[in-house]
Amino acid sequence: MHHKIPTIFAIKGYALHDGPQIRTTVFFKGCPLSCHWCHNPEGLSPNIEIITLRDRCVGCGECVVACPQQALAIDPADGIDRTPALCIACGRCVEVCPALAHAATGWRTSVAAVMAEIEKDRPFYDTSGGGVTFSGGEPLLQPDFLLALLQECGRRRIHRTVDTTGFAPTATVLTIAAETDLFLYDLKMMDSARHLRSTGVDNTLILANLVALCRAGHPVRIRIPLVAGVNDGEDDIRAVLAFLRDLPGITGIDLLPYHGIGRAKYRKLGIDYPGETLTAPDRKHMNSLLGIITGAGFQVTIGG
Ligand code: SF4
Ligand code: SF4
Repeated sequence: MHHKIPTIFAIKGYALHDGPQIRTTVFFKGCPLSCHWCHNPEGLSPNIEIITLRDRCVGCGECVVACPQQALAIDPADGIDRTPALCIACGRCVEVCPALAHAATGWRTSVAAVMAEIEKDRPFYDTSGGGVTFSGGEPLLQPDFLLALLQECGRRRIHRTVDTTGFAPTATVLTIAAETDLFLYDLKMMDSARHLRSTGVDNTLILANLVALCRAGHPVRIRIPLVAGVNDGEDDIRAVLAFLRDLPGITGIDLLPYHGIGRAKYRKLGIDYPGETLTAPDRKHMNSLLGIITGAGFQVTIGG
């Protein structure tokens, strides 16, 4: 899936958990996976969606007039009403509403615009040894945009991290790797059938790409989102470690315990939250997993 116009859903400065030191993180919109625990549901679709928060509406009618699609109407009882089937996500209602009752889940951008944002935080990179992290969604879904940004950061000597699901054609992964200083690489679980159930894809390509990256000499840090009863068994972790043991270039492992921060976002987007019943492993269990990982000789952190 190639985007003609690059689309992102957030740029966050002063990020401390998306790679080494202080970083600016650029979130690409669109992801080929649909993990039950995803806390960035606004990053899932490659398209820009409009969210309408009815309780903010003050009934002025500005957006109804501005909408080119007649997708909006004021319901005397409930406030503003948007018919999603008519909406083309043009963003006019977002621009005109004085009450901020409409919002877009992302925006179209350019290499120059993103670089201008990245440059604002340069003093932090220079003093901390930080840099930029491209995340998502899945940054490899927009490979041309990603490559252009990586090349530009390279020219400006800014450290480049790519945070990826690893689910992309191997040739794309290796092309991107030539311009990447560090990968943060998600490894959810080794059991492919369970991986498919929890994320919507099996892990064959993800594992093959990880091997390809490591064999080609690219530094990779592994990230494991941990969900109680889903992928946090000691056997699950041992299987991951057995796979990693023979790979060169693994700089360490970050354990990312599940958190429900995304719940409110799903509500706003009007989609069911598939993680409703999920929980994080408890502290005691986290500690035993830490012990297993350090025992296998890997550097490990909780939270990245
Ligand atoms: S985004 Fe555009 S088409 Fe959709 S409701 Fe708003 S004004 Fe109408
Ligand atoms: S512009 Fe905003 S406040 Fe006015 S009717 Fe539309 S949603 Fe309500």
